[in-house]
Amino acid sequence: MSSNYHVTHLYPDQMSIYGDYGNILTLKYFCERIGLNFIYQPIGIGQELPQITHLYFFGGGQDKEQMLIYPDLLTKQARIADDLLVKNIGMLAICGGYQALGSEFITGQNQAIPGLKILPVTTSAPNTNITSRAIGNLVVESEFFGTTLIGFENHSGQTYFVDSDIKCQPIGKVLVGYGNNMEQQLEGCIYGNIIGTYMHGPILPKNPEITKWLITRTASLDPQQLHKLQNLNTSLESKTRRELINHFTENLK
Ligand code: GLN
Repeated sequence: MSSNYHVTHLYPDQMSIYGDYGNILTLKYFCERIGLNFIYQPIGIGQELPQITHLYFFGGGQDKEQMLIYPDLLTKQARIADDLLVKNIGMLAICGGYQALGSEFITGQNQAIPGLKILPVTTSAPNTNITSRAIGNLVVESEFFGTTLIGFENHSGQTYFVDSDIKCQPIGKVLVGYGNNMEQQLEGCIYGNIIGTYMHGPILPKNPEITKWLITRTASLDPQQLHKLQNLNTSLESKTRRELINHFTENLK
């Protein structure tokens, strides 16, 4: 059984905003706490995907950066789709990365950025006007994770589920903010070991349940490591999140 955990970070130079890199640091920290050897594999434009990956990380970016990376991303489509949909390798994809897992992203300037067509979602932006962007803190009640999650969103894209044989589910119901789009009060998409979300912030240090879920689902843990992971004390994170949720929901009372 391997005690290595390989994380492949797609396009860190272009796709890593609003603290997204903090997710890598959090994964490394959790792995080290349970004696799992964390191996970080940043992959840029023109570079080949590594042989071994347990979890892909795909952060957010500006439309301009999404435009830059997509031709290279499409060359990796078959391999990534096979890894995620056949081999059950995990992925955490945030905002621009989440949009790239869907069929396409039509920008506010009406440019089509093709996606990987892995998740049954599609995204388009109404225009480039700052007032029509979804910006701010996000509070999400998640039955899936059994808790209320927080993050920070900043996107023009409005993401909708489309009909598909791939039966995915949202991460949860939006209590504060927008999430996938401005109409449905739904946030994110989960399928297998893939999480697509609009929660920057970064998401993992703020929501340790998601970090634990990702590592549990995608690493080869021995029983001792699993026990350690399940029992890692994250009460400080939970307390901080509770305070923030109280603050963010104050206006709703
Ligand atoms: N450029 C995309 C949008 O505005 C994604 C932004 C992001 O990743 N924060 O919708």
